[in-house]
Amino acid sequence: MQIGIAGAGFSGAVIARRFAEEGHRVVVFEQRDHVAGNCHTERDPDTGIMIHRYGPHIFHTGDERVWNYINGFGEMVPFNHRVRTTVGGRVYLLPVNLLTINQLFETAMGPDEAREFIEMQSDPTIGEPANFEEQALKFVGRRIYEAFFYGYTRKQWGLDPTELPASILKRLPVRFSYEDSYFNHPHQAMPRHGYTTIVEAILDHPGIEVRLSTPLTDDDRVDFDHVVWTGPLDAWFGYDQGRLGYRTLDFEEIRADGDLQGCSVMNYGDFETPFTRIAEHKHFAPWEEHDKTVAFREFSRLCGPDDTPYYPIRLANDKGLLRDYVARAEAASGVTFVGRLGTYRYLDMDVTIGEALAASDQMLESLSSGRTL
Ligand code: UDP
Repeated sequence: MQIGIAGAGFSGAVIARRFAEEGHRVVVFEQRDHVAGNCHTERDPDTGIMIHRYGPHIFHTGDERVWNYINGFGEMVPFNHRVRTTVGGRVYLLPVNLLTINQLFETAMGPDEAREFIEMQSDPTIGEPANFEEQALKFVGRRIYEAFFYGYTRKQWGLDPTELPASILKRLPVRFSYEDSYFNHPHQAMPRHGYTTIVEAILDHPGIEVRLSTPLTDDDRVDFDHVVWTGPLDAWFGYDQGRLGYRTLDFEEIRADGDLQGCSVMNYGDFETPFTRIAEHKHFAPWEEHDKTVAFREFSRLCGPDDTPYYPIRLANDKGLLRDYVARAEAASGVTFVGRLGTYRYLDMDVTIGEALAASDQMLESLSSGRTL
């Protein structure tokens, strides 16, 4: 079969590889001039520091299949992601843990005491939290919410937290211990030579042709028995019902000698500070030595038609539009939609790879039992 894939991020690359290994011919169309999508990394020409061009990506997973898969295409170096946040001119640890609580409240509580104390801060009038703010007020109380979540979230999403789904906050744990690892997963790592070399290795197969700086057009579709679309869901339909909302990011570069902030990611919880965080990229590769440093302030804003989409907003008013596009995507023949943009969901890299493997299994299984894709 001839398979056309739009997008050379993790989704497109993983599916391309599976089909090529089964003897199919695959052409991957990538509109940017590089592979790896928003995970793209490249060395800064001046300093040699590995830059995550579209913002920090830290690999973490509890999925053994995904962990084994990524290790098959490059060396992963254990990396424990730690995040700090500056609020009111002071630095605290994230995710909220016993040290954060004790520093904020100027106490010296033990785990049980702190748990009870935080429970007392909970707003008892909230049942099932209907939005981000209610989720925070119920689980961490007003003081922690206002210090660490309110300002950051308003900047990140451009909306009042009462308008955002509770699910966004569920990504972040609250810990009653001094453990300050940002993620809970058993495997947490960074690729020694960046994500782009991993995606290049996945795509390096004689059955795969990659066309950079080449979007897959309507005219191209007829050349293939099946198309896998990892671009924006609404783009496939020519945005005919309107555009699904995304946040995009602007980066402001900082260059300095030595070490700028002493950690990879410093969040800024105050609403008054216009950026959400500063990422200092050499700290994502602590095994390397660099005398100089490069960091980026991140500013979040609504994504325009010519901007790079990052975070799907998925607000109530996007839901009707999304339902409509999803129904049409499910009914469409000759095309499969996958990935963060193709399914309009906030996906971590490991979930993206896991879903791409599962989608390949399903498509290859359909083919081998004589069904159409
Ligand atoms: N968040 C916050 N304060 C922080 C960090 C995160 O309020 O210092 C909220 C914010 O709404 C964010 C969500 O928690 O969108 C999820 O954070 P995460 O670190 O998972 O965001 P990502 O890494 O995807 O940018």
